[in-house]
Amino acid sequence: MSPASQKERIRQAVMRSVRSRDLYTEAQVKSMFGALRSAETNVKAELLRIKERSIISKGLEVRRSQLKGIQREIDSITRDLRKEMSLVSRQSMNGAYRKSFDDVVNEWADMGVPTYAGLSQAERLKMAADAFSLVDRKALDFLVNFELQLLGNVTRELAEGIKQQISVGLITGESIAKISEKIGGIIPDPEDFRRAGKTVFKTAQLRTDTIVRTEILRAYNQGRHKFYEEVGVTHVIWMSVGDKRMCPACQELDGNRYRLDKAPSVPRHPSCRCCTFADPESLGIKEKLSEVEDEAESTAAIAAEKTPDVFVMSPDEVAEKAYKKRSQKQQIGKWVKAGEFEKLTLEQLQDIAKKWRVSIYRNKEDFIRMLAPLEPKADWDNIKGAELKMLLKKHKIGSMKSKEELVQLLKNKRAIKILEKISEKS
Ligand SMILES: [Zn+2]
Repeated sequence: MSPASQKERIRQAVMRSVRSRDLYTEAQVKSMFGALRSAETNVKAELLRIKERSIISKGLEVRRSQLKGIQREIDSITRDLRKEMSLVSRQSMNGAYRKSFDDVVNEWADMGVPTYAGLSQAERLKMAADAFSLVDRKALDFLVNFELQLLGNVTRELAEGIKQQISVGLITGESIAKISEKIGGIIPDPEDFRRAGKTVFKTAQLRTDTIVRTEILRAYNQGRHKFYEEVGVTHVIWMSVGDKRMCPACQELDGNRYRLDKAPSVPRHPSCRCCTFADPESLGIKEKLSEVEDEAESTAAIAAEKTPDVFVMSPDEVAEKAYKKRSQKQQIGKWVKAGEFEKLTLEQLQDIAKKWRVSIYRNKEDFIRMLAPLEPKADWDNIKGAELKMLLKKHKIGSMKSKEELVQLLKNKRAIKILEKISEKS
């Protein structure tokens, strides 16, 4: 294959991922708007009730108590909205992360990466699932929580905005139609969206739109990065997506090559649509795609660190590793079931402890129990935090429970669980 067509083939394969990612994002944005729309429907129903009860025509005192009721109703509507948004958010972020694995495998198969090129559809899906089973998802939880925090701000401000429009409207004697107009609603068509005037709901919709797009991209890219890390990609190339929504700020990075751990993270800014893909050279594709080297490293350094012919893990190797991990998990399960906690590593014990809600940190009681034999003169009933801290430091006692402590605690917890099961049955 000629270099030009090879280069084009690679670009097309990456673009397929980008398009598939964007389609997914659109669908997620829509379902988030769906949540906003049901909140809008409920708010409009509340406005109608206000109109029917003709609160406006009544005296000021009546209005005040009724206003409280209305505000409570709005709070309840936005609480439901927040719940719904959290649900959608968890699903869409997890989905984006998982999806990136499928996309990279397809991308590599389409690019012609050795050992990936011949994979059938079923083999591609299995490969992505195997790789996914190997990565830890702690980083994703962090991203999900971050998005929930941002969306939480949106719903809080939405609630405040609605309540304010209603109170001010009722007090100054505005019509319900006027109040409703200021509160606004969800605008489905993006063209109308730009033209529409500023309303409470439009502000919320606009912010939700940016947050969801940005955070899904973050989760998606995090997934790609984890995949690269897992299979041993050493370098990535930046691709700025060149259409009408091209990020001007990122255009200059297009084609840059970075060491995986040194690459700027995507998104670089809100609504960034860029992407990084594994350097074809580090995948065993011979043609060099990029002319622009990462400024921080010399060509000689790259040549020195790369051993020729050692590239990324093959699908078989990934499957093997995933199989080993599954077997290990089963083995751990057997040990836990039998109460043989001594056989587990500290990290494995910590994982079980978290699942069983056993703290992996020592508390004050634990500290005192450990220090008592070492400091017989201390007054444990009246000990101050600073003094305790000093003694812990002196005797080199850390905050994390040791392997032995966890083994004992988990054995106790297991005994309780067994007793609970017995008493349930009797
Ligand atoms: Zn960008």
